[in-house]
Amino acid sequence: MGFFSDLFSKQNCVFCEQQVGALSRKKLKDKTYICKECEKNCSAYIDVSKFDNGFISNHIEYMKKHNILYEKEVAPLDKSKKERFVSGWDGIIFVDSIGMFEVISPKYNKKNVKELFRYDQIQDFNYYNVENTSTGEGQKKYSESGIEIIFRCPIDENGWTNNQVNGGRLHPYVPKIRIPFEKNTDDANCGGLAKAHLNKLFGRASESLLGSIKEDFTGTGKERAQFKAGVDSVKALGNLAKAAIRKDAEGLDDAKNEMKNVATDMFNATFNFGARYTSIADEAEKRAWEE
Ligand SMILES: [Zn+2]
Repeated sequence: MGFFSDLFSKQNCVFCEQQVGALSRKKLKDKTYICKECEKNCSAYIDVSKFDNGFISNHIEYMKKHNILYEKEVAPLDKSKKERFVSGWDGIIFVDSIGMFEVISPKYNKKNVKELFRYDQIQDFNYYNVENTSTGEGQKKYSESGIEIIFRCPIDENGWTNNQVNGGRLHPYVPKIRIPFEKNTDDANCGGLAKAHLNKLFGRASESLLGSIKEDFTGTGKERAQFKAGVDSVKALGNLAKAAIRKDAEGLDDAKNEMKNVATDMFNATFNFGARYTSIADEAEKRAWEE
């Protein structure tokens, strides 16, 4: 179908079978359609058009379970049990007692279902900012600034498989969420209070990656991670040196990749502090879904 005939044609939503016009639907990867209303049953933090109807169908079931989890485990809680950091329409609400958090955004507010993220799915978090490209009057350095949370996720934002994930609990759908705490600002580090709560949860003292690695190698779990990473790096370095001596370009590339993998493993092992929240999150899910 051509662009214009596609634009003006009515199509049926593959989930509710309603006939919908171009402005109230999205095309999925397998060229089926989802209507605006059915999209409200999906996560605010995925782009549905990157997936096919079977995938989204499973995702909608997952979200139904999350809504139940929220209704049973979060809705009845007293305000004092939630740490709320919201600026304007965006923010994050931590529920430490169940090891989970909720992300607030304008898109999320329009959804039919609530969604929670587990602390043990977090791989990393940091400040992010987007440089302002326009230079008009009143334009500050950044168009937005806030906190970025990266999950261990087997798929990337385009729906492709991500093989770089190892260890720890996975998030099945969301690789990354950005929470803009300020728009049009000169401050590169907005959302400091929410960041401080994350730092506390994850036992991270310093803001810099190198600083964190140095400071965090103190506990027994961390020592183990360090030891393993140390052994692996020595092996990888050895291969790098051997390939360099042989002037073996292919071997050199392999060895470099090996070093990269060692660095990734070390990073994941070092920062898998979320694991300490696994059992309370598991218990909350069990209460909500099994009882
Ligand atoms: Zn529909």
